[in-house]
Amino acid sequence: MGKAIILKSPEEIRIMQEANQIVARILHMLEQRIEPGVTTKQLDRWAEEFAKKRGGKPAFKGYRGFPGSLCVSINEQVVHGIPSKKVVLKEGDIISIDFGVKYKGYFGDAAVTVAVGNVDPVVVNLMKVTKEALYQGIAQAVDQNRINDISAAIQDHVEKHGFSVVRQFVGHGIGSQLHEAPEIPNYSRKERTPRLMPGMVLAIEPMVNVGLSDVRVLKDGWTVVTDDMKPSAHYEHSVAITENGPLILSEFTL
Ligand code: MG
Repeated sequence: MGKAIILKSPEEIRIMQEANQIVARILHMLEQRIEPGVTTKQLDRWAEEFAKKRGGKPAFKGYRGFPGSLCVSINEQVVHGIPSKKVVLKEGDIISIDFGVKYKGYFGDAAVTVAVGNVDPVVVNLMKVTKEALYQGIAQAVDQNRINDISAAIQDHVEKHGFSVVRQFVGHGIGSQLHEAPEIPNYSRKERTPRLMPGMVLAIEPMVNVGLSDVRVLKDGWTVVTDDMKPSAHYEHSVAITENGPLILSEFTL
């Protein structure tokens, strides 16, 4: 038995949309500043400053001891990379930036992968397929479907293109806690998974590898890398299930 899924009222969803819009704006701003020569520590500082200006508290800083505000994961790094002034972006890299805030008691959480200048065509395709897989998953985030419909849609799209989904890390419910029930794997499971209903808010986040699906954690205790050291991409949206279908809370809107 999993933990109970906490449903959110329309008012709570409205606040969560505000929280996620802070995240969306920051990711958008960072995307425009990503270029060769920028350090991941600089990205972390920009994210933190901008969040504070908007009234959002960086959610990851200090979470189980995580030392940064922004997760920065380059190339073979999958998720949870630690910002550092020693890590300088260079032409041909890809970087996943994952950011969360707490705002008026609720969390927002989203991630994108960004190319630094020109990158290998295979990696361009990896990014495209991962983003598409996220949206395929979101399309299944409708009343009466099950969590597994989201998982299966993501896995199908990824594997159809010859890539693999990470299994050790999964998406999650989100609300007044950063990580709530249910878990949202990016692969299909045989067991019965929870039925979706309006009021659920889910952070859906495919992590997709060019090579094999296996990953491991580096000695820093955080950085997750692919076992075969091949590139990995990561996209995430926080999505509310409503009577009118999925509402992407973290979609950047002006
Ligand atoms: Mg997340």
